[in-house]
Amino acid sequence: MAGLLLPICSVIFSSLLCLVYFSRKKINLLENNMYGIMLVCTLIDSIFVSILQAIVQYDVTAFGEFMLYLINKLDFVLLIAFCNCLFFYIILITIPKAKEKAKKIMFPFILVDFIIAIFIFIANLELIQSGENFSITGTACNITYLLCGLYILSTIAIVLGNLKKVDKRHIPVFASIAIIVFLLIIFKLNPYLIVISISLTFINYIMYFTIENPDVQMIEQLNLAKEQAEKANMAKTEFLSNMSHEIRTPLNAIVGFSECMLPSTDLNEIKGFARDIVDASHNLLEIVNGILDISKIEANKMEIIPKEYNPREVFNSLCKLVEPRIKEKPIEFKINISPDLPGILKGDMGKVKQVVLNILTNAAKYTDKGEIEFNITCVNRTDIKKCLLYIAVKDTGRGIKKENIEKLFNKFERIDEDKNTTIEGTGLGLAITKSLTEMMGGKITVNSKFGEGSTFRIYLEQEIISMEIPESTAEEIEIDYSKHNGKRILIVDDSKINLKVANQILKPYNFNVKLVESGYEALELMESQTFDLILMDIMMPKMNGVETLRRLKKMEGFDIPVVALTADAIEGMDEKYLNAGFDGYLSKPIDRYELDRALKKFLGGKKDE
Ligand code: ADP
Repeated sequence: MAGLLLPICSVIFSSLLCLVYFSRKKINLLENNMYGIMLVCTLIDSIFVSILQAIVQYDVTAFGEFMLYLINKLDFVLLIAFCNCLFFYIILITIPKAKEKAKKIMFPFILVDFIIAIFIFIANLELIQSGENFSITGTACNITYLLCGLYILSTIAIVLGNLKKVDKRHIPVFASIAIIVFLLIIFKLNPYLIVISISLTFINYIMYFTIENPDVQMIEQLNLAKEQAEKANMAKTEFLSNMSHEIRTPLNAIVGFSECMLPSTDLNEIKGFARDIVDASHNLLEIVNGILDISKIEANKMEIIPKEYNPREVFNSLCKLVEPRIKEKPIEFKINISPDLPGILKGDMGKVKQVVLNILTNAAKYTDKGEIEFNITCVNRTDIKKCLLYIAVKDTGRGIKKENIEKLFNKFERIDEDKNTTIEGTGLGLAITKSLTEMMGGKITVNSKFGEGSTFRIYLEQEIISMEIPESTAEEIEIDYSKHNGKRILIVDDSKINLKVANQILKPYNFNVKLVESGYEALELMESQTFDLILMDIMMPKMNGVETLRRLKKMEGFDIPVVALTADAIEGMDEKYLNAGFDGYLSKPIDRYELDRALKKFLGGKKDE
């Protein structure tokens, strides 16, 4: 009877634990499921061991003997399953980042266990009876203990190998490992003692009251969520305070100079203020675009949109953009574009432009004299239609201290802020540049010597569409306002101030402009008048631009080109509006050159020309 005591105790305790564990609400995690299996294995094992003990004591018939062999082998399989689950469970709770890896290796492990389980059923097993107790030996028994031993040793090795800092999750793990080692010693000393099932039950209890208790888990998850929310909130506050400072600086100039303009009667002075306002506004726009880009990158919403482009045209246009800035200072601007550069490439032209423009602008901003070299070389793999672009911008500017190089690509990080006060910037440029370059599968590096200069290099792979250099289609920079005299333009926008700005920008063209404040008015006007082009705002109350366009298109014989005019200037929006049926897309604030391009495109006659 005494031999039955321990197994029956473990049946009772295991049943209680199963009852409590499975009746409570818990979080569905892989490790919880592992623990659940461990509990079930232990309960069945305890029942098996109790039956075995009972058979040994009360039934010595041939059937009883057959059952002894069968149940023992089933019990071995359970033991292996328990050790397998314990192995994964301990890895999952002590090394959370190994979760994906653990998931991947789980199936092969289960498969190996399954094959070994089959082998155990075939292998021989010997029972040695000694009075009321029994012990087992044989191949099946050796394989089981060997495999379980391997699992336990691997668990210990993995936990110790990854042990950076002991936390409260390691304590039950160490306790369990100690129990297992203690058990092995006892088992070696007295193989007739039935201690396995009660030990497993004990391990389960330790785990339950330290790690697995649903309450403990819920609180931990809540704490984690709280920590994450607090971190996110802090980042948001920091972001807002940074932004509010960055945005206020150019706004201060815009508001200040505008107020100065009002009482002034000196035309030259007014022009001077206006120039400063334009500069501050461009700076503000750059900041807003930067914030949008960073938020998009951080929300993983930035997409790569490949298009065919002429790289020579792109790089030359970038040079034109920075040249006025460089010309203000005694700097020689050298441009070397390799003759091997393919004629047409395919890639995200907008982002290529953005990253290269950023390092070019920085060179122009942070160099006072000497030279800026803009080098573009490439390695063409025509067999696989790939072109590896090497873009380098070398300057003889102020350079960057070694200790600051790492900070360069952090957002909002500006180096030598005290010296920078006269140079506008947000510290977002290089952070965006790095993210965009990496998103395109490229790399950015920097080499710099403080006081001597810096070299920024961008490596990008683009698809080769054609090696032949196409005839340049670059637009002339000067706008010819006399081209479209007298053409009729309708502008639809709910904001009076936006109507005023658009009207003013269009003034030099001598158009016949009509302004309306809603889609309804536009529809009404179209009943009696016709136009050569419609510029349509999108976000309007009651009837938005898309809906207005839909209704316009329903009108008989309607074939006036309609260009979307919107502040929704996020990348990919142009395609959205073209898909919605617009003929073109212009973002606000209106860029005069973009507008001129659209006018040229649509005022040649009917839109299909
Ligand atoms: P911003 O130019 O808007 O401040 P960036 O992220 O483009 O922000 O650059 C971060 C900082 O790196 C700059 O404030 C500047 O101190 C430094 N930096 C960038 N490019 C250069 C360069 N070519 N020479 C020297 N310093 C540079």
